[in-house]
Amino acid sequence: MEASPATAEIIRTNWQRVQADVADACSAAGRAVSEVRIVGVSKYVGPELTQQLVDAGCRDLGENRPQALWAKHDWFNDAQPPQAADGPVAWHMIGHLQRNKIRRTLPLIDYLHSVDSLRLVDALATETANQDRRLPILVEVNVTEDATKTGMDPSGLPELFERIGDCPHLILRGLMAMSTNFSGGDQARHEFARVRQLRDTLQSRYPELDCSQLSMGMSGDFREAILEGATLVRIGSHLWDGIPH
Ligand SMILES: *Cc1c(COP(=O)(O)O)cnc(C)c1O
Repeated sequence: MEASPATAEIIRTNWQRVQADVADACSAAGRAVSEVRIVGVSKYVGPELTQQLVDAGCRDLGENRPQALWAKHDWFNDAQPPQAADGPVAWHMIGHLQRNKIRRTLPLIDYLHSVDSLRLVDALATETANQDRRLPILVEVNVTEDATKTGMDPSGLPELFERIGDCPHLILRGLMAMSTNFSGGDQARHEFARVRQLRDTLQSRYPELDCSQLSMGMSGDFREAILEGATLVRIGSHLWDGIPH
């Protein structure tokens, strides 16, 4: 869809509504709204509409595919980068990162939410050292009953944390997870609670690492995630309501 003044208005309204909904969820959880950061997932739209989301006030953008992130970056560098009046925008890689795409992706991202294997940690350790880059990361954990879903099995987390602790260029920030069907309800809440419990256990076992952030909650289940301690919610669809995508 073409960007126009009409799309800018829709996106601004959506952004304000999402912020209000997140604020409501925070007050229902007895939490300060400043504890939860909204990552605007821009994967559904092109760079022009992404820029309109930035213009509306969003300062964190999430993409789940490296190639799409590269393409958007190229566009922004050709036009004007997605700068906001009050500073640069942070890019979050939220989907699986293949090892052969690390080199090109690393310079473009500020956070990686989806560390999901020891092999990926090893490859990231090498490339962050090569590029002399410190990268904040979250470890993606699968807390659903479905072994085909993405993320680490919880049993593999201690070994992964120890490996990350040995890598001076990888800065652990926390855990990331998705619920079984993204639509909220008791099951999602239970799964997010499990993530928080895992975090608490790991944090006390590895006090030298920072596991304070929980990236969980999407358009359909951010309320449950915020009730269970999410600090980063990854919202896509609700931001693009009324914009064909
Ligand atoms: C697409 C995506 C989201 C956003 O999901 P919506 O339901 O559109 O809000 C969040 N996290 C990941 C990893 C995604 O791929």
